[in-house]
Amino acid sequence: MSYLFPTYARWNVTVKEAKGTWITDENGTKYLDFVSGIAVCNLGHANEEIIQAVHDQLAKYWHTSNMFHQPIQEDVAKVLVENSDGDAVFFCNSGAEANEAAIKLARKHTGKSKIVTFLQSFHGRTFATMSATGQEKIQQGFGPLLQTFTYLPYNDAAALEELEDDVAAIMLEVVQGEGGVIPAQQEFIEKVAETCKRIGALLIIDEIQTGIGRTGKAFGYQHYGISPDIITSAKGLGNGLPVGAMIGKASLIEAFQAGSHGSTFGGNPIAMAAAKATLAKIFNDDFLKEVNEKSDYLVNKLNRIIGNHPLVKEIRGKGLLIGIECKKQAGAMIDQLREHHLLVIAAGPNVIRLIPPLTVSYEEIDKAIEIIDKAFSQQTAIAH
Ligand code: PLP
Repeated sequence: MSYLFPTYARWNVTVKEAKGTWITDENGTKYLDFVSGIAVCNLGHANEEIIQAVHDQLAKYWHTSNMFHQPIQEDVAKVLVENSDGDAVFFCNSGAEANEAAIKLARKHTGKSKIVTFLQSFHGRTFATMSATGQEKIQQGFGPLLQTFTYLPYNDAAALEELEDDVAAIMLEVVQGEGGVIPAQQEFIEKVAETCKRIGALLIIDEIQTGIGRTGKAFGYQHYGISPDIITSAKGLGNGLPVGAMIGKASLIEAFQAGSHGSTFGGNPIAMAAAKATLAKIFNDDFLKEVNEKSDYLVNKLNRIIGNHPLVKEIRGKGLLIGIECKKQAGAMIDQLREHHLLVIAAGPNVIRLIPPLTVSYEEIDKAIEIIDKAFSQQTAIAH
């Protein structure tokens, strides 16, 4: 008997503790965690520097409300601004809330209501962000949705040509995460940016999964040489403490005045302490270089061991957001990997998503590769 709404298809693993890249269950079984709380614990579990920063803040104060000046919010905002194309930050508590803020800001600034998003996208579960999400399964049973969203095919530059100047914003992920680890093509992203200019729409990049070093850059859009008007962040920003942020360009600041938008817990000092410590580690060239090196190492090894496996269609991704697209549903293989004590998660029906902490060691990558090799070899044996 559970007292919770059954909104999650939970694994049969009960967490006792977690440290670094490892989760230990109630029976003492250790799992290699290539999920990271779904791209959240980018510095691993129970990171000492974050624990210290959070403890220090706990001892000072926890919550006073946004009626007060809180220098720690300014500190985190400054780092986000210095490492992105934005100029000002609004803090909230989750990815969906960051996207809500972006949608509201885009409407208020432009005076237009239509927002263009893409098929297979994922932007959240609140009413506006569910409406923005280009996946029917997320929306089923909740209609009528907000009517002002239009979904276009992803990576289809030609489809953008039909857009006219009634659009407030185009919003997208540079790697569709939940939709199947689908990286955007360079020419598509350039066309999106060019279309925004042509029709007077804002460019919103949803970096909730791709941000905070996950793809090997501070933010994923920085691979593409574009300059978004709004960037949304959450997940990895607090390394596990709930925090979201919307980062906008200077020209948008006056659309959000006192009373335009807010959140009781937004910019909570404990979450800010975690975010400050997280960013101090990740927004660093040497750290990001290592993420890219580990990504190359992992992807090369994956290609070597399962690139030609009869079940595997494609291995793709950016940085340490990697997808193995299978020729059939991925669920059984994900379960099998977990039985071998490697935790991975699906992205869409056919993709196995690997999102280890960015601090994963080469030994841990080798261990994961060994397990993947074993599980896929067993599948071959079953297939024959
Ligand atoms: N946007 C993207 C790209 C995401 O991957 C997610 C969560 O998976 C969200 C938005 C929603 O974030 P949250 O669950 O924190 O509301």
